[in-house]
Amino acid sequence: MPKIKATVSENVNKYVAEYPRVFQTDGYVLFCKICNKIVSSEKKYQVDQHLRTLKHRELYERRTLIAASTEAGFNEFSMDLCEAFISADIPLSKLSNPQLSTFLRTYTNEHIPQESTELKTYIDQIYIRLLNEMKNTLKHHFLWVSIDETTDIQGRYVANVVVGILHENEDIRNKKFLLNVVELDKINYATISRAFNDSITLLGEDFDKNKVLLFLTNSASYMAKAARGLKIFYPKLLHVTCLALSIHRLAEEISSYFNQLNLLISSGGKLFLKAPSRVQVFNAKFPGIPLPLEPITTRWGTWLDSVKYYAQNFEEFAAVVAELDDSDSKSIKNIKELLSLPSIKSQLFFVHNNYGFLCEVIKKLEGSNSLRDAVDLVDTSIKRIYDVKGTIGQEIMKKSNLIFQKNKGFLEIRTLARILEFNESCSKTKYNLNELSAFKYAPLTFFDVERSFSSYENYLGPNGESFVFENFKKNFFVYANKAINK
Ligand SMILES: [Zn+2]
Repeated sequence: MPKIKATVSENVNKYVAEYPRVFQTDGYVLFCKICNKIVSSEKKYQVDQHLRTLKHRELYERRTLIAASTEAGFNEFSMDLCEAFISADIPLSKLSNPQLSTFLRTYTNEHIPQESTELKTYIDQIYIRLLNEMKNTLKHHFLWVSIDETTDIQGRYVANVVVGILHENEDIRNKKFLLNVVELDKINYATISRAFNDSITLLGEDFDKNKVLLFLTNSASYMAKAARGLKIFYPKLLHVTCLALSIHRLAEEISSYFNQLNLLISSGGKLFLKAPSRVQVFNAKFPGIPLPLEPITTRWGTWLDSVKYYAQNFEEFAAVVAELDDSDSKSIKNIKELLSLPSIKSQLFFVHNNYGFLCEVIKKLEGSNSLRDAVDLVDTSIKRIYDVKGTIGQEIMKKSNLIFQKNKGFLEIRTLARILEFNESCSKTKYNLNELSAFKYAPLTFFDVERSFSSYENYLGPNGESFVFENFKKNFFVYANKAINK
């Protein structure tokens, strides 16, 4: 029936005429050149829907920016090459290696950028492109923001501002964006507030500040003070101290009561470091048991992990140490003395049985994206801590109360969790229904860029060191945004 055919082709041609850079057609089907796929075009809303998908918009934005920079004289190959190098954490200066550049030029027949000014221009372009993509992705959503600080090798204070989307779709909410890297002349509430605000400003003049719902930080008092000030400009902002960090602080408090245990944990792992003959004794005697490890200070809860190790392998560890020669080193003699104390065993079992579960709680909190789960985890932990009898148990309970009462935002989060379960009326909160739904997927642990990939120090080290901050920042921005979503 030719009439219908004419309608179909009329229809698709209309879309191609309207969006010549997006669609093409053979007269029957509508093809999106951006996404490389056929789009249903029977109804107008289907086409509109496709144009609105996140994937399409991201790709479109990328194309537009690439087209713009190509027109401005940038070579797409060079830009992709620079981006790949940065992503792989290879210094761009390697491009000036004669053998590498000759190899690349020979086999690609493309121009290889080598001059530092040219490379800098490419970094600038990549940075602008990524930031624009980020802006377009973030501006339509409710957001969480987290700030962590670190010092680089030159002793500069650096704040990393990470943003994420509060969204029911798992792929969308799992993605993190390092929005900004800010150099601070000192760390206090004023510099943190400014870093927060300057970063959100990057999302554009028209960005709705009511969309920033959650601010996750460490427990420093200047963070709470910064948050109080920011609430004037961000009326919906709820400040929460990272829950995993709170539990970690509690574990630190617990460790402060057990000096002998601390001694065992700090020296037990070292005993086997760079000591192959001792490792051999251990492995020959207990092939199935791993060696004791030194607690890693950058990972939370590792002290409790060590307690668990010694609680589970106490006799075996003691048996190995008994075979080692006292005259070999003073630390062997010290550990033998430590192991012979009756109190060490009771300390070990007290901590492991009453508080050992906290290291699991930290891991679960770090992996959680559900408000309900996180609140449940913390509330169950508080209850278990409450149940521990004895003087030390009481002291640790007091500390736990203090930590969680100070976290005012968490108290409000608890209310939100109850409202979401219909156990509390909506009148108890200033948030509307859309905002409440967004909170359902709120992460309650702050995102520490430094801990999220191991090469941060390398990055700030030999390669990072030679950069002036603005250059370092753009380079690191490109690298980190790939690395944190690996
Ligand atoms: Zn498309």
